[in-house]
Amino acid sequence: MPIDDAALRQAKVELAACLRWAARQGFQSGVCNHFSVAVPGRPDLMLINPEGYFWSEARVSDLVVTTHDGEILSSNGHTVETTAFCIHAPIHRVLPHAVAVLHTHMHHATAICMRKGGVVAPSYLSAMSFYQRIAYDRGFDGPALTPAEGERLAKLLGDDFILMMENHGPLVVGASLGEALLRLLYLEDTCKMQLLAEAGGRELQPIPTQLMAAIPKDVPRFKAYSKGFMAAVIRVLSREEPDFLG
Ligand SMILES: [Zn+2]
Repeated sequence: MPIDDAALRQAKVELAACLRWAARQGFQSGVCNHFSVAVPGRPDLMLINPEGYFWSEARVSDLVVTTHDGEILSSNGHTVETTAFCIHAPIHRVLPHAVAVLHTHMHHATAICMRKGGVVAPSYLSAMSFYQRIAYDRGFDGPALTPAEGERLAKLLGDDFILMMENHGPLVVGASLGEALLRLLYLEDTCKMQLLAEAGGRELQPIPTQLMAAIPKDVPRFKAYSKGFMAAVIRVLSREEPDFLG
């Protein structure tokens, strides 16, 4: 199926905006780590940030369309770092519901990943939509340098939204970039709150199980909210950092 240029342009605007917004939150570390999204109508292709660039300088024209096997289809001259094909591509290939795949080493969520048996505590209202949809990788095997590692991570993630990778950091997926970015922000906020609340060794108050069970697996309100959230992010960046659209 041919690529829909208008849909691809919108995906590029959203991806560049997500990268810039994440950089504003302090989630950027060096010029590595990736945000990717399936090309609209072409789930066999992904759109991803280029090698060697900060998220804070992401521009629509710098993003790269690739196959899952590492072939670069964009003609902007950019390359894509190897680990993108060892984590992101296998997850897109194995899990079609993971339209957007975001991976960071954001500090508070990564701190939970560094704990022995670390879990995200079910104690914070804003994160109720994902508490029961978090998978944990307890088998750290060094940097992800083969597609087999990404396939292992995809199997662990399954239907869940978040994979907390021990000794590494979090990975968040969504049915859209807006959903995934909002979930990423909620996750970091939740982990930060948890670390603050646990400071001094105090016990956390869990949210009652019956309330957690009442949250449907796919919250329509979250989907609607994430749409408005993505639009707001683009609106603010269009005003304050309009070069991201270039
Ligand atoms: Zn990483």
